[in-house]
Amino acid sequence: MRMLLANAEAWPGFDTTVELLKNGGAGIDAMVAGIAKVEREAKVRSVGYGGWPNMIGDMEFDAGVMDGTTRDVGAVGAVPATLPVAALAHEVMKHLPHVMLTGAGARRFATERGFAVDDTLHPDSKRVWWERLQKEMSPEQLAAFPDIPLAPLSNTITDPERVRDTTVFLARDAAEGLGVVTSTSGWAWKYPGRLGDSPIVGAGFYADSRYGAAACTHTGEMTMRCGTSRSIVLALRLGYSLEDAVKLAVEELSELKTGFLAGVVIHAIDAKGNHKVVNYRNEEEIRYWYWDERMAAPELRVAGTI
Ligand code: ASP
Repeated sequence: MRMLLANAEAWPGFDTTVELLKNGGAGIDAMVAGIAKVEREAKVRSVGYGGWPNMIGDMEFDAGVMDGTTRDVGAVGAVPATLPVAALAHEVMKHLPHVMLTGAGARRFATERGFAVDDTLHPDSKRVWWERLQKEMSPEQLAAFPDIPLAPLSNTITDPERVRDTTVFLARDAAEGLGVVTSTSGWAWKYPGRLGDSPIVGAGFYADSRYGAAACTHTGEMTMRCGTSRSIVLALRLGYSLEDAVKLAVEELSELKTGFLAGVVIHAIDAKGNHKVVNYRNEEEIRYWYWDERMAAPELRVAGTI
């Protein structure tokens, strides 16, 4: 059974991916095409052009792609001047012996593969970033900015409740292959060069067509410490139900007592056609898109808790 699960921000590209899956397209190609629409949509305030800059006002994007049949992975992190970073991660998977490129090297590879140099900082994102920063800095810091120590600011201007999210797509295609694709601008006002979980295989995403696929949004600093997406797929391999596999991952997250702790959203599907989206510790309502081939149209549903 063909199916597609994605988070609420996927709306600009969800139907594109559904149509491609319906026509028998490969899951990764269908998801990369859908997510490219999300990355270009300025109204989605967490990914691509609508996303948020790092602490010094630069846009840096993260993305990951995994084919659960071959377990091939491509990922890019902290990429400047490039909007279609999920497609770039796919190019890494297809054309390099590596799994991940970051920063200037990722941008160099983008140029080699014919990607445009994009204008990535939305004027409204720039305005919000600068207003926020001005509130947090002393006149002396402002005068010397950005040649000041940034680490003290990372505690004060991190604004996790307002400005995090990622687009995640998880699909099962006509060939019964499972796959996952992620894309994000990461935490707003992050330290330059910071990678979240979205490009980290095993943390922000994982897929194995024999068992299942998982992807996480929100606090990457927690899912990286737990290897959350891999935990879920490994638990499925060990015979857990999807419900119990996600429960195990939530237990692991809740065992963390130090470091930055906040909300996580887990999206998971299994090879039997089940899906589960769990909101761990976020106070706001979390919604997601779901479609499978028994349904006339995709539905926006509300995530549960464990
Ligand atoms: N998980 C992403 C990160 O840590 C952000 C998010 O999904 O909110 O960069």
